[in-house]
Amino acid sequence: MQPSPKGAAMNDPALILIVEDNPGSLMLATVALEIEGFAVAGAETAREARAVLARATPDLILMDIQLPDIDGLEFTKELKADAATASIPVIALTAHSMPLHERAARAAGCIGFIAKPWTPAALSRDVRAILTSVRSPA
Ligand code: MN
Repeated sequence: MQPSPKGAAMNDPALILIVEDNPGSLMLATVALEIEGFAVAGAETAREARAVLARATPDLILMDIQLPDIDGLEFTKELKADAATASIPVIALTAHSMPLHERAARAAGCIGFIAKPWTPAALSRDVRAILTSVRSPA
């Protein structure tokens, strides 16, 4: 019996949790990242995201700042205060790309942000770059 050849990406796809309450944006981001070979879990609310996090540990969380049940930065602080989720890198998804907001995102525990509106190609490129940097820290 021969082992089947497996590429690293197929062998161990990174799991990305997307927390985004706009269903169209969530679907577009999910498709964009799945095409690139990532495994994707989606959540439209913090409540749904907590349910995902109770059974899986994503490699990266993309966090919409404006969620219906909690502010995305407050949710990020909550995740950073919980030992079970503190080490998961969080990237803010925000239409507010002003420096003030970037500082607020970093203060909450986000390691960066992706400005809306993003294109699928740019989102995939940014996620790939972020994963590379968190997996091989300088
Ligand atoms: Mn939103």
